[in-house]
Amino acid sequence: MKINDMGKSGELLMKCKSDTTGEIYEVRKDGDFNCTCLGYQTSKKRPKNCKHIRRYKLSVILENFLLVGSQDNLEKAIEDIEQLFKKEV
Ligand SMILES: [Zn+2]
Repeated sequence: MKINDMGKSGELLMKCKSDTTGEIYEVRKDGDFNCTCLGYQTSKKRPKNCKHIRRYKLSVILENFLLVGSQDNLEKAIEDIEQLFKKEV
């Protein structure tokens, strides 16, 4: 994986504005997800993670659910969301 000096790599998926500083973070995917925020850069997890990457993954889960919207799909969506936030602990 190539990362240039801005820490940007891969296809741009989502831009997030920081609530506190107003800074814009970019979530990208280049094999693994990556983000330009400090939380991601200093993450000790492998693969690295941050709330913006989780936010992006959550938006994908919800979008898929809203497209289909069946009962089976709801259970799958809940499972995926639980999985997403379990890793945060
Ligand atoms: Zn981030």
